[in-house]
Amino acid sequence: MERHKRYLEQNRAWVAERKSHDPDFFRRMAEGQTPEILWIGCSDSRVSSLEITKSGLGEVFVHRNIANQAKPDDASFLSVIEFSLEVLRIPQIIVCGHYGCGGVEAALSGLTGHCAVDGWLGGVRDLAEKHRAELEELPGSTAQANRLVELNIYEQIDHICNLDVVQQTWKKGQLLCIHGWVYDMPNGLLRDLEMNINGLGDIPKRP
Ligand SMILES: [Zn+2]
Repeated sequence: MERHKRYLEQNRAWVAERKSHDPDFFRRMAEGQTPEILWIGCSDSRVSSLEITKSGLGEVFVHRNIANQAKPDDASFLSVIEFSLEVLRIPQIIVCGHYGCGGVEAALSGLTGHCAVDGWLGGVRDLAEKHRAELEELPGSTAQANRLVELNIYEQIDHICNLDVVQQTWKKGQLLCIHGWVYDMPNGLLRDLEMNINGLGDIPKRP
């Protein structure tokens, strides 16, 4: 059977199974959402927030793109963060990158020749250039890419902290904590980079 047809069948089986354990589940879901986390992650098919955190439907509002970018000029991202903070009043944001990120590795090695992708990854290439001396001291391309994955998470959190909508959230006393995590693909473990930014006073200084 073709994969997309199999997924439709699996969906029907999932609905039946859910209803058998919790007959009210879909009615509750249809009433609305109150997620407590905004997840900003990579589009990579191996990094699903739902699966790796064992979270349930309705718990996590998600924005994913190649190399988990939080660009101040990206209308899609800005809409997500504005809606998350002003409507859903989500109190926690997790920026989750991952080792083995194809987007970060591509940015580290230069241009891919794919016009839109190269444009999208410009910020990560700039970041690699900015930290070139630190990266070149590391032994081998995997260690360099892993470090760039971490630097990219710090950079995206810096973008988020400096957004007007985020600063206004803190100024009016609304709870908001921003975390940086990295998913270690070869062992499946999430690592907390322990940023925990709770307000304007916690924002790391820009170098
Ligand atoms: Zn990735």
